[in-house]
Amino acid sequence: MRRGSWRIRILIGLAIVAFAFVRRCSNQEENPYTGRTQNIDMTAEQEIAIGLQSAPEMAQQHGGLYPDERLQSLVDAVGQKLVKSSIAYETPYEYDFHLLADDRTVNAFALPGGQIFITYALFSQLNEAQLAGVLGHEIGHVLGRHSAERIAESTFWQTLATGASVGGDMGNLVAGIGQNTLLTNGRNDELESDELGVLFMIEAGYDPYQMIEVMKILKAAAGPNRVPEFQSTHPDPENRIEKIQEAIQKYSGR
Ligand SMILES: [Zn+2]
Repeated sequence: MRRGSWRIRILIGLAIVAFAFVRRCSNQEENPYTGRTQNIDMTAEQEIAIGLQSAPEMAQQHGGLYPDERLQSLVDAVGQKLVKSSIAYETPYEYDFHLLADDRTVNAFALPGGQIFITYALFSQLNEAQLAGVLGHEIGHVLGRHSAERIAESTFWQTLATGASVGGDMGNLVAGIGQNTLLTNGRNDELESDELGVLFMIEAGYDPYQMIEVMKILKAAAGPNRVPEFQSTHPDPENRIEKIQEAIQKYSGR
């Protein structure tokens, strides 16, 4: 390629990179529930819509909803108790708690906007306070707006990688750095959700130390050499336990 066209490529690449940063700046907002500044490019209404739209497919992937109405309402009652006694009640999100039929995958997750799921495989190992811990953690993901933040972050890194590959064949390098950053941020999301989960447990009158028992159950479910879904994006259980203990100290004196 001639030197002139290289110069144009670099200029275009730099323009794309600049665009990524400008958009990122204009998307900065402070989360009113956590006080943390985040990069977000969707509204709460959009989050709710995405969650409602994906919920049936999510349930389908885990064998649908668990058929016992009584257990469904138990999960919902514990979830709503956490919502009503915490700041979650003041958010625009619509919380729904679902028990999934899947009796092999130990997992729980939240879609943006308030759709929250727990598999029967995990549910069946928990007492009520531990269930509150898991659901509280998932409520933390919702009001922490973690999915929306991850979407905005990955758009940012994709745009940056495009700019880098147009401007100088460094797309893969930038994409790699982006992957790592997203993974690290994912772990921080987990720690933030653990802390919020502890707070919600205390506010709803549950023993927050049961959250530590949840970590032990997850660790045991992982087995000596198998990494389950729930753990692969999650920080080391020992690290989480330490942070949970700190959160209990922080909130139980209030
Ligand atoms: Zn989580």
